[in-house]
Amino acid sequence: MTAAALPMTDALLALYRRAPMEFVRADGVRLFDAEGRAFLDFAAGIAVNSLGYNDAGVRQAMLEALETGLIHTSNLYRTAPGERLAEKLVAASFADRVFFCNSGAEANEGAFKMARKWGKLAGGVAKHEIISLRGAFHGRLFGTVAATDRPQYRNPFRPLAGGIHIHERDLHELSKVITDETTCAVILEPVQGEGGVRVLDAGFVRELRALTAERNVLLILDEIQCGYGRTGTFFAYEQFRITPDLLTIAKPMAAGLPMGAVLTTQRVADAMLPGDHGTTFGGGPLVAHVANHVFDRLNDPKLLAHVTKEGKWFGGQLAALAQRSAKLRAVRGRGLMWGLDVTEPAKDIVARAMEHGLLIVSAGDHTLRLLPPLVMTRDDLKQGLEKLEAAIG
Ligand SMILES: *Cc1c(COP(=O)(O)O)cnc(C)c1O
Repeated sequence: MTAAALPMTDALLALYRRAPMEFVRADGVRLFDAEGRAFLDFAAGIAVNSLGYNDAGVRQAMLEALETGLIHTSNLYRTAPGERLAEKLVAASFADRVFFCNSGAEANEGAFKMARKWGKLAGGVAKHEIISLRGAFHGRLFGTVAATDRPQYRNPFRPLAGGIHIHERDLHELSKVITDETTCAVILEPVQGEGGVRVLDAGFVRELRALTAERNVLLILDEIQCGYGRTGTFFAYEQFRITPDLLTIAKPMAAGLPMGAVLTTQRVADAMLPGDHGTTFGGGPLVAHVANHVFDRLNDPKLLAHVTKEGKWFGGQLAALAQRSAKLRAVRGRGLMWGLDVTEPAKDIVARAMEHGLLIVSAGDHTLRLLPPLVMTRDDLKQGLEKLEAAIG
């Protein structure tokens, strides 16, 4: 692959090994680079672009928001889009209250603070521990990185924020460390994303919900990646037949504009008073107007049925591919969120897929992650699978 004409820069902090091509345009489920090459998208900007690119409805929503002249007002004043969206999220979920912020990690940081404040009121200062699970990814800010199970993200920053512990996904072990006296919350992703695309066992999740409820401990679900229709229901927890006390969302919420949210029950909301948490930008009128449109499009039974149906077909095709290829060791996923364990470094296959005009991402050193836009058609999914098979070799 030849690099784009854009000269390399030393001005950006070198935190990413960016692919060499320069994207200049996107439409539907394809991006185009400066040399005019098309890339079919099985990455969706890491589960963000669920409606694809250049979507007429999203464009319309952005233009409507611009018409008002109100991009930002701060949270000192009322604006309608955020209030409307909060009401929709409450109506569609277990939640009574919503807090808007600007990213996934920020949503989890907010949820941690709410859990801490609630815990202190419910059981005193000792009730402050937050427990996350083996394989978890909850973000890379100071509190969330302590709940993220990836040594290379954690170790350079020790000592990490205190009172946050990672434990095995094992009920016996968890039942020993979760106590009414010391634990305020357990956080988990119903489908772990960055950690390798692992659908948690429904029985395990239900028993953990029962255990936390019994011991007066909050359950926080991180649906930043697996929520908002990605696995075929609007919230992934619907498929586990439980409800949490808090839930975080972000990635696809505003069609690529930065937005996150914490959803919570009244019981937890009662612990939070004015001044206990805040954000300058969160839930501003432009992002929230676009997010209302995204909510309406993704919380649509037709779209969700499409994800379920195409997801089943897609998973079947991946299983068949694994049968044909000695380089694929395992296939996991649900809806349009899939992980493939591979025998060679995942980054090498990601690079070869680019040469075939396909964007995919990895989830750890030996897992490929496929996250197509939720609107992708069978024909495009097929085309992507052909490119994927060629890239795996
Ligand atoms: C991406 C992600 C986050 C972090 O979101 P940012 O917007 O990158 O801060 C947290 N949890 C999960 C499950 C994620 O997939």
